[in-house]
Amino acid sequence: MSPLPEPREDLRALEGYHSPQLDVDVRLNTNESPFPPPPAFVDAWTDALRAAPLHRYPDRAASALRDAIGAHLGQPGERIFAANGSNEVLQTLLLTYGGPGRRALVFEPTYALHSHICRITGTEVVEGERDTDFRISPTEAGSLIAAERPAVVFVCSPNNPTGTVEARATLDAIVGAALDHGPALVVVDEAYGEFADRSALDLVADDLPVVVVRTYSKVWSLAALRLGFAVGPSRIVDELDKVVLPYHLSVATQTAGLAALAFGDAMQERVTTLVAERRRLEHALALLPGLTVFPSGANFVLFRTAGDGHALWQGLVDHGVLVRDFSRWPRLDDCLRITVGTPDENDRCVAALRAVLEGR
Ligand code: PMP
Repeated sequence: MSPLPEPREDLRALEGYHSPQLDVDVRLNTNESPFPPPPAFVDAWTDALRAAPLHRYPDRAASALRDAIGAHLGQPGERIFAANGSNEVLQTLLLTYGGPGRRALVFEPTYALHSHICRITGTEVVEGERDTDFRISPTEAGSLIAAERPAVVFVCSPNNPTGTVEARATLDAIVGAALDHGPALVVVDEAYGEFADRSALDLVADDLPVVVVRTYSKVWSLAALRLGFAVGPSRIVDELDKVVLPYHLSVATQTAGLAALAFGDAMQERVTTLVAERRRLEHALALLPGLTVFPSGANFVLFRTAGDGHALWQGLVDHGVLVRDFSRWPRLDDCLRITVGTPDENDRCVAALRAVLEGR
């Protein structure tokens, strides 16, 4: 066999991002919405797509979509940057504000893609630790920012996989430290923001280094279409526009994002249902033997079992229920994460848990 070129030296140790999929009845492992989008949305979207000139490139600036997202959030369109899923938004932020010679601060345990994309973009990762209840300590965050001078600070709230929602005072302390030492760009990942009772969106202003990242993958039931966006100072949005590939957002994605916004009420109803289901799931889990449930502001719940977490995960799979196994992750020993599903899926998950924990 002839030799093939080696990838970049700094990428050799990199492992791919895996979220194991198994063919089971109840899939509660990837934090998607359990509800497909409304049929009326699919009609509106496919009508718009049929009318689109497919031999032409899409609107490079995605202006109609950005203006509409902005109007939905009470922000000007110039403060919106849209991309293929919030992962591409995060990648573009790191390509623009991270990179060789720059650092990004993350607070572990958190969304693994933050440090993964850092490594891909040659950005050095600095790991802060969360408290035992998975909150960020504002004092520790301030000292880390002062000592390490990161170019980017990630605050995931609600945090994946713990569900933790940060206090406004913590965010204020982080933004204060970011302003004093840099300024660093504070990226608030609100992929699950709609499920929480507070958001950093009102912090976004043209003179503050804060960017809030959101997605259509969860609340808007459009994970398959890949659309996410950032809300931030217009000068930062301009910089992101220079870095992202031209015409990266297909006409199918742009029209879907626009059409979905007309279904805001239907989406809000789903949020209400899922939050109620999350509370029901949290209560049911707390009643099961040996489980510690962590408070969540997202569409998932993390818990720790007093027994062997991986064995419990396997037991659930044997009962046809797939949840996410974090039991061997640093700081998450014996923890599993359940995505909130339909009421029936949640009932089946709790019944399977009870059966495994009671040894049936
Ligand atoms: N941020 C967080 C915290 C997430 O959990 C996810 C999805 N798992 C994303 C961003 C990426 O979502 P998407 O690319 O589908 O918008």
